[in-house]
Amino acid sequence: MSARTTPHQLDAFWMPFTPNRQFKAAPRLVASAQGIHYKTPDGRQILDGTSGLWCVGAGHGHPTISSAIRQQVDTLDYASSFQVGHPGAFELAERIAELAPPGMDRVFLVNSGSEACDTAMKIAMAYWQAVGQGERTLFVGRERAFHGVGFGGISVGGMVNNRRAFGPALLRSDHLRSTWDPATQAFVRGQPATGAEMADELEQRIVALHGANNIAAVIVEPVAGSTGVLVPPVGYLQRLREICDRHGLLLIFDEVITGFGRFGGYFAVDVFGVVPDMILFAKTVSNGAAPLGGVIVRRELHEALMQGPAHLAELMHGYTCSGHPLACAAGLAMLDVLRDEDLVERACQLARPLEDAVHALDELPGVVSVRNLGLAAGVELAVTQGQVGRSGARVQAAAFECGLLTRAPGDTIVLAPPFICNPNDIHAMVDRLASAIQTVEFPQEQIA
Ligand code: PLP
Repeated sequence: MSARTTPHQLDAFWMPFTPNRQFKAAPRLVASAQGIHYKTPDGRQILDGTSGLWCVGAGHGHPTISSAIRQQVDTLDYASSFQVGHPGAFELAERIAELAPPGMDRVFLVNSGSEACDTAMKIAMAYWQAVGQGERTLFVGRERAFHGVGFGGISVGGMVNNRRAFGPALLRSDHLRSTWDPATQAFVRGQPATGAEMADELEQRIVALHGANNIAAVIVEPVAGSTGVLVPPVGYLQRLREICDRHGLLLIFDEVITGFGRFGGYFAVDVFGVVPDMILFAKTVSNGAAPLGGVIVRRELHEALMQGPAHLAELMHGYTCSGHPLACAAGLAMLDVLRDEDLVERACQLARPLEDAVHALDELPGVVSVRNLGLAAGVELAVTQGQVGRSGARVQAAAFECGLLTRAPGDTIVLAPPFICNPNDIHAMVDRLASAIQTVEFPQEQIA
């Protein structure tokens, strides 16, 4: 977008997840990006406090990734993965399988986290049909979860505004309570020590109510990112796994945000020691440089579906751009960068500086919670004028003015810096966030 952009040119694009009227009255535009900065059309530098949208761990314009995409477009710009293949898709799937827990070595490629979620739900249903338990069609999600915007994803998702208008189209689902407990977790550093028993609801209420033999799968984000960095209590995910095992339920981890390094390992198994049956990924896998996502599937599930007449597709599912050559090139290059630049370890080392920096905001007027894990943090603000999201939107806008890009789900400001930051960059981000928070007036009783 050029510096000549004027408001009337903004009308045609119906922006996703954006208050369009407000945005177009006061647009926040970026024109280019390099490293940990965006640049606005008038040349201002904006620190990328959210790695784009949790994607750009290796920083913008990474030369290895850019040149891999350039080379690929000149070699093979497009090939379908329907009944024809190209090397990049096979190589990428193999490289991802090598990083996944043992036995999870089949990879279905898609273009987004939403597609990954709907794909995994279809695989779960098809699997249960294949093994003669087709009555297992109910999915268990969790309140305050985000699994994208497909009809499967919003069925198991727990963000009420994303579901309300689409009620009749939702799949059969139930939801665990969120792991967020303001009474005990408001200013906890890292994982809350207590609360693992919240997982027991799966057995005590949901399995008891619906019957295990009707439940296809349980799907959770190991750390809920999009609703403001909600960190699971120590032992919670283990307990979910144990209950799923006891009742024969599939466990799906949506690692669209947690996958590929943000929390100190490639996947939740490396961070929390829990192995699911399927892993969803997207975002960081391609550094955001091309749309890419996928589902990593436990071998036995895949084997169960490899049946029927050999000339027919075993899973009637896929996308025109599944395994797109440019996305695969971006993914392969990103995997090289993560390995060669030791970026997962670098992200790990930044976790403490980020934790210390954000918790320095604990006492700031209007801040009601600060939470963090790995290279992600949520700073929650008091609701103002009885309107949820108002404080968040105002602080997000003020932060942009202060030169910081953040996310603001509801009234939580999220920081998810690129892995290539140094501690000074982290401090600069948090300083700008503090300045932005101080521009908002919080009523006296919320300051107390
Ligand atoms: N799952 C999780 C956990 C996410 O955070 C997101 C997006 O933020 C999605 C799924 C959806 O991904 P996409 O926007 O690529 O469809």
